[in-house]
Amino acid sequence: MNEKGNPKLSVVIPMKNEAVNIAPLFRRLFPILNALKISFEVICIDDGSTDETFSTLRQHQESHPELVILAFARNFGQHAAVMAGFEHAAGEWIITMDADLQNPPEEIPKLVAAFEAGHDLVGTYREGRQDPFFRRFASDLVNRMTRKISGVSIQDFGCMLRGYTRDIAKQLARQKDYRIFIPALATLFAKDPVEIPVSHAPRTAGESKYSFMKLLSLQLDLMTSLSLAPLRFLFFTGSIIAILGISFGLLLILLRIILGPAWAAQGIFTLFAILFILIGGQFIAFGLLGEYIGRIFKEVRGHPSYVIRETCRGNRENLLSHESHQKNGSLT
Ligand code: UDP
Ligand code: MG
Repeated sequence: MNEKGNPKLSVVIPMKNEAVNIAPLFRRLFPILNALKISFEVICIDDGSTDETFSTLRQHQESHPELVILAFARNFGQHAAVMAGFEHAAGEWIITMDADLQNPPEEIPKLVAAFEAGHDLVGTYREGRQDPFFRRFASDLVNRMTRKISGVSIQDFGCMLRGYTRDIAKQLARQKDYRIFIPALATLFAKDPVEIPVSHAPRTAGESKYSFMKLLSLQLDLMTSLSLAPLRFLFFTGSIIAILGISFGLLLILLRIILGPAWAAQGIFTLFAILFILIGGQFIAFGLLGEYIGRIFKEVRGHPSYVIRETCRGNRENLLSHESHQKNGSLT
């Protein structure tokens, strides 16, 4: 602890229905943190779990006073949970990780070493990723697309075992937009980032919280939060479709003049095809516009990005504060 009583390292772990993983996780995590010989805290965010995650965490708090529990009032999603962790972290270095042991705690010393070497943002990429083929394929696609759209050249956006200095974490927590892509956004604030390889394990127990639909909506969030490129793409595609449509129209008129009225009757189907293309294009346009307008709507509405029901600290008094906190999604 430093003179203010703040730990050197904060480990932030979002948890949704991870009760079965808590004991195996802590059995590996705490010995590693203790061996580092630096002061630390472990902040677990219970993201509206419906299983015994909260009570299990409370039990562990008795033997691990370094444990801080933030219990969300309901499920706000992994990114909101990480943001809450950033907001509450007191450490100089902050490391985020998943609760399902897919990010081996044994890799933490590597991240700490990178901090000690002076880096302020420690990214990671997964070596020998242990996920189903579909997830790896989707993730590869997401990584490529995100690299292109955001112009941020990170190898692996999806690995949540990452390190941030307090300055960067607090800046991230202050961002208005809570549907942001933390790893990509962090690079905006970093002066000396580094990327290191870490190993990856299959999920030990419980199931993934990301269905295909959730992944898809996450990707749309990420894409629209990082840039306006999709809007521009829309404009260009729209223009091309319109030009093609006009040329087709001219061609049809020409053919009608040359080949006579008998031919034109059959051309109806061509017209239908063109119509469908145009309608399709319009629908894509509306969808994307709606997405951006939706974001503005959410922003204007200013609902909190998360609501904390309870904060439990693991010291002798155990419960420090029982009141509800709110973090507003639209801080200025
Ligand atoms: N998580 C969360 N809130 C959610 C979904 C997930 O806090 O709404 C946590 C989850 O408990 C885990 C981490 O985020 O610690 C990563 O989730 P998961 O392992 O399900 O994702 P995957 O590995 O399948 O990408
Ligand atoms: Mg996982």
